[in-house]
Amino acid sequence: MSVETAAASAYLVAALLFILALAGLSRHETAKSGNLFGIAGMVVALVATVALAIDRNIQGVGLGLMVAAVVVGAAIGLQRARVVQMTGMPELIALLHSFVGLAAVLVGWNGYLGVERDLNGGEAQALRSAQTLGIHHAEVFIGVFIGAVTFTGSIVAYLKLSARINSKPLVLPGKNYLNLGALVLFAALTIWFCISPQLWLIIAVTLVALLLGVHLVASIGGGDMPVVVSMLNSYSGWAAAASGFLLENDLLIITGALVGSSGAYLSYIMCKAMNRSFVSVIGGGFGIEAGPAADKDYGEHREMSAEQVAEVLESARSVVITPGYGMAVAQAQYGVAELTRSLRDRGVEVRFGIHPVAGRLPGHMNVLLAEAKVPYDIVLEMDEINDDLADTDVVLVIGANDTVNPAAADDPTSPIAGMPVLRVWEAGQVIIFKRSMASGYAGVQNPLFFRENSAMLFGDAKDRVQDILSALPSPVGQR
Ligand code: NDP
Repeated sequence: MSVETAAASAYLVAALLFILALAGLSRHETAKSGNLFGIAGMVVALVATVALAIDRNIQGVGLGLMVAAVVVGAAIGLQRARVVQMTGMPELIALLHSFVGLAAVLVGWNGYLGVERDLNGGEAQALRSAQTLGIHHAEVFIGVFIGAVTFTGSIVAYLKLSARINSKPLVLPGKNYLNLGALVLFAALTIWFCISPQLWLIIAVTLVALLLGVHLVASIGGGDMPVVVSMLNSYSGWAAAASGFLLENDLLIITGALVGSSGAYLSYIMCKAMNRSFVSVIGGGFGIEAGPAADKDYGEHREMSAEQVAEVLESARSVVITPGYGMAVAQAQYGVAELTRSLRDRGVEVRFGIHPVAGRLPGHMNVLLAEAKVPYDIVLEMDEINDDLADTDVVLVIGANDTVNPAAADDPTSPIAGMPVLRVWEAGQVIIFKRSMASGYAGVQNPLFFRENSAMLFGDAKDRVQDILSALPSPVGQR
């Protein structure tokens, strides 16, 4: 069997392993094996690619450079994965998407310059017919365009997620026409390039796409950022698939398509969960004219001490915990898991209510709670728990804010109006763990904090949970 055939078979095996990885990652119970399938797929793909390169006479300096790139990349990747905090994952993912975008741009440029070189050498006609040359030019152009949009869009997402720039939507006059204009220009330049490929056209499309990437993501507001992250994930997949066509690499095409379509589907279900229009979000906030976050006076808030909260919890029959980004920042999940065990030992029914965009990445809270060994069967989705909240004695809101904001349901002028939220205010008593009265990610005030049945427990969530645990007397039978 030739190396080419062996590599093609290895690519097929790797593609199947990637599909198994995606299937495994879709459920808690199978997530670990899903990860292993992904790692195995990547190892098979890398070995096959190196073997193919050697077979195609890439030796000496070329091979050395390739091995060096793999070693350096793997070392940086391992180090980043080891030190990254869970709260820093979304920005890291956004940064990684930008690399995929940049790689697609470079592959596209290389594809163009390579063919130009062959043309100048007079070999092009021998290499390709005029028709396949046209297809090649279209691939170059589309690959560069998607890659450049992904590159700058992901950098802006990284800057917003890491709070290096403001997460408020940028509203330029006629922003929708700017986006539409860029797309029309792209279509016109593509046709021009296919008919008469010239260097300035590829420079022009790169610039248009770089600017469009910045504008698309900058125009999307704080509350819609989760969809942007999954959308950029999808774009990075299509960028990789475009590179796959250029490099004539089937595995890259399959993997890119898997990432592209699963990212697009995730964006779609997130939009549905947040009552947002999919077209509007992928169109850079098309048609959304978000009002400013008004600073209304909601009156006075009440405060409770950890000891008082312990008393309330002791006499409760049912407790629901709704965690948010603050639980991740405080790393309070272990204390929360211990509190859950302690309350359940006392016969209190404890459940968790997870909002689809709580935290800073899809599934953020589920990962943290699983890490702290909270049983899966008491961790419920927002839709599963919302109708039970009215019959719940106490809700503990641990570092959540936007995801429990009643303004989303009551105030049509709110920038997060229409986003479904956990209706925690329907419970008997709501206790909010926070360090201050500051707003959440979307920068919107939360009237929940001022309701009759709400009380604030100020301080770092991890410390306050520990204080409650210390204040709770041992359960009956263990005294
Ligand atoms: P929010 O960001 O709305 O609020 C988190 C709250 O946690 C803050 O108000 C903060 O208040 C508090 N907090 C921070 N640190 C601590 C700490 N150490 N101890 C106690 N409290 C703390 O969180 P939610 O989870 O409710 O909502 C998520 C938001 O993030 C949504 O707007 C969502 O759209 C957005 N988003 C989600 C992504 C995802 O994929 N899930 C990705 C990107 C954005 P204080 O400072 O007063 O302590």
